[in-house]
Amino acid sequence: MTASEIRALFAVASRPEVVSLAGGMPHLAALPMDSLSGEIGDLIAQDGLVALQYGSAHGVPTLREQICEVMALEGIHGHPDDVVVTVGSQMGLDMVTRIFCDPGDVVLAEGPSYVGALGSFAAYQAEVVHVGMDADGLVPENLRQAIAAVESSGRRIKFLYTIPNFHNPAGVTLAVNRRAEVLEICRRHNILVVEDNPYGLLGFDGVTYPALRSTDPDNVVYLGSFSKTFAAGLRVGWVLAPHAVREKLVLAAESATLCPPTLNQLIVSRYLAKHDWKGQIKVYREAYRDRRDAAISALEQHMPLGSTWNKPNGGFYVWLTLPEGIDTKAMLPRAVTQRVAYASGTGFYADGLGSRQLRISYCYPTPERIREGVRRLANVIKDEMEL
Ligand code: PMP
Repeated sequence: MTASEIRALFAVASRPEVVSLAGGMPHLAALPMDSLSGEIGDLIAQDGLVALQYGSAHGVPTLREQICEVMALEGIHGHPDDVVVTVGSQMGLDMVTRIFCDPGDVVLAEGPSYVGALGSFAAYQAEVVHVGMDADGLVPENLRQAIAAVESSGRRIKFLYTIPNFHNPAGVTLAVNRRAEVLEICRRHNILVVEDNPYGLLGFDGVTYPALRSTDPDNVVYLGSFSKTFAAGLRVGWVLAPHAVREKLVLAAESATLCPPTLNQLIVSRYLAKHDWKGQIKVYREAYRDRRDAAISALEQHMPLGSTWNKPNGGFYVWLTLPEGIDTKAMLPRAVTQRVAYASGTGFYADGLGSRQLRISYCYPTPERIREGVRRLANVIKDEMEL
């Protein structure tokens, strides 16, 4: 295991004078804290003997039923028995890798990909083969070629790890007309699909895309999370898995944590039952859309010629490619001196690519701070071009 570049940066980037466009911290100030604190107090007063007790590794049954209702928004017909509650979807990623991967097995993942997933794959010594994306997400032809290359080298592909909606870090979404093709390719080659979807309900146009899991329930393991739609600090996520995988997941979860925190599961369950959670998601979506707009207009105003980026339709991230000759990892300390932080591109690849790329997150700072941060970043890049 090695320290992630991005996590190492958190300490510096959290100094108040630095505008951090680095981490993906949700905008929690949008939550109704007063009513939540009343609810949590009531929960302990009324149900403390259950809420503060051990529970099952599988998760609280009522919450698993409610999770199925949440997933129904993306066309998924899941059974509560096939849901396993996890400590964030990060734990789901860790467990799925632990169950499926022996050292040297191959995992296919978009290039770039989520840094926490790459960390889990590395921890179990799985080898990542990246599959290229374009503005419509994973490119099916690239997937075919990657599979052919790995198979001809005699290695085993255990699964395709994919983030179809509002990708972290690339910001792109897998086009609906590609979804069936990606599933069909994987099915034909007997490759399981691990669909990681923490941002699916955060589309800025109010559009919700059909989950991969909704059309191929037997070959897709789905990872979900309340981190972005409710509260990340509660660490409540889930895995929806085909039956046989689900049994292994419960065993893996038991050996890792005995059970997910009962109190946090009951907080989420009560929140879903008593609050307008869909209304809250709308509040989040609107805040993130304003922040996305601030980031994009500041990029258009300040970035030097030769820089490119995408305009995400949801989620937290913009992915930038800078002019030739710039190394975003080497530039980072100079950016922090100029009071702006970002995540450099190489952390999102397992194979050393990404040195001209970087991710900015617009989820946490206010629109004013985002504009100021992007202005500072553009100045750093311009200085760099003159070096
Ligand atoms: N997958 C992706 C793509 C993410 O961006 C994140 C969080 N940044 C996670 C998983 C982990 O989320 P959780 O808080 O549910 O563990």
